[in-house]
Amino acid sequence: MTVSGEKNWDVVIVGAGPSGFMAAITCAREGVRVLLLDAKETIGAKILISGGGRCNISSLKAEEKDYRTGAPRTVRNILRAFPSNRTLDFFKELGVDMVLEEKTKYFPKAQSAKFVLQALVRAAEDAGVVVAKGKRVRTVSFRDGRFQITGSDFTYAAQAVVIATGGLSYPETGSDGSGYALASSFGHSIVPTAPALAPLMTNDSDWTGLAGITLPVKLSIVTNGKSVAQSHGPLLLTHTGFSGPAVLDISGSWMRCEEEDKKLIGDFLPDLGEAALWASLEKNAAEHSSRTWKRVLALYLPERLAEVLLKKSGIDPKARFDQIPKKEKNAFFRSLFHWPLPVAGAFGYEKAEVTSGGVDLNEVDAKTLESKRCPGLFFAGEILDVDGRIGGFNFQWAWASGAVAGRSIAAKFRPRL
Ligand SMILES: Cc1cc2nc3c(=O)[nH]c(=O)nc-3n(C[C@H](O)[C@H](O)[C@H](O)COP(=O)(O)OP(=O)(O)OC[C@H]3O[C@@H](n4cnc5c(N)ncnc54)[C@H](O)[C@@H]3O)c2cc1C
Repeated sequence: MTVSGEKNWDVVIVGAGPSGFMAAITCAREGVRVLLLDAKETIGAKILISGGGRCNISSLKAEEKDYRTGAPRTVRNILRAFPSNRTLDFFKELGVDMVLEEKTKYFPKAQSAKFVLQALVRAAEDAGVVVAKGKRVRTVSFRDGRFQITGSDFTYAAQAVVIATGGLSYPETGSDGSGYALASSFGHSIVPTAPALAPLMTNDSDWTGLAGITLPVKLSIVTNGKSVAQSHGPLLLTHTGFSGPAVLDISGSWMRCEEEDKKLIGDFLPDLGEAALWASLEKNAAEHSSRTWKRVLALYLPERLAEVLLKKSGIDPKARFDQIPKKEKNAFFRSLFHWPLPVAGAFGYEKAEVTSGGVDLNEVDAKTLESKRCPGLFFAGEILDVDGRIGGFNFQWAWASGAVAGRSIAAKFRPRL
């Protein structure tokens, strides 16, 4: 449906991303008249680029511990009110079946993010939501018992408003942070924002020369001799530095950590452990004693990586394994469990999958997501101070918070319908 000349709405939802769509569909299905506005002509742009174009729609289970937030209790309420299985049911009803990958990640069976967006657009139309594209909201105010929503060429009135404008990451998709100003104009505090789920950079050409290699790792941020954050999963080496799920997951903590001595430490043999490594080394030493170091190490690590690690330890990769003193061998192998990765910085919002920080969750109702500053004003999605790990957690938050805001609005209007 395209926008009509109608100026008065029950609800105006600002932002047609996943959380805005979910809020719109949920309350429109209850008979509420909904206008869904988006600044862009191409809506749902983040859905289209998500999960490498396949959209990791949700995770097997999502709990507050999977998110960074200033209000875990509210996150728990919202996730319990609309857990992952409700997301699956919702999409199944729209004709989007899911498959579970890597034990925890749900993707559409069609392997297509476009398919997901098309299903949402159809569901919104079927529910009677009016979608208006190219409408960037500049101000929202409350006057004479109604909200006024204005942009350069429009003014709408509504009894309720949902701000679902996302954060600051990938600004070309439309989330340029303008929602924070809308929230602030109602007296909401914004928890300082930072890019999260972003690749880390290095200036070390030995590492950038390994672009394309992926391996499982455990990562820790160590400061003052203590590990202050951990992640595990694949590490992807790129021509600019370090990426892949393990790096993206720990990048927010890296950026927030202000200690000057912070180090990113990699365990390159996370599935083996020291005891198992020694046992396996003894066996290999007996069987392949005349092999070079590089070839022995290649039994455990990608060969090109093995070569660089040996070079950095001052060991000749071509030296025979049985000609190296035991002490030196042990020290080298031990270092594979805590290898410092030379991080020179992190990419900003242009490459960060999500934004950490945002509208303070303590200033919204913990069960309805209605503003405590202005009744009738709701928030949903990434604009709130909640960011999840990689693996479908951020979409799950968007669906759950959108559904809760939508239901709360429908409940407000129910007596009248
Ligand atoms: C490359 C990439 C891959 C990702 N992959 C995944 C994944 O596989 N799984 C996962 O769980 N998460 C993933 N994410 C994160 C996920 O996409 C976001 O967390 C999610 O889209 C946030 O939803 P949202 O509705 O809050 O905001 P957004 O999706 O950012 O949508 C906000 C909408 O609001 C509109 N808007 C903004 N300001 C205004 C305004 N002033 N007026 C009108 N409209 C406005 C924007 O145009 C936009 O359409 C990925 C993110 C990126 C960048």
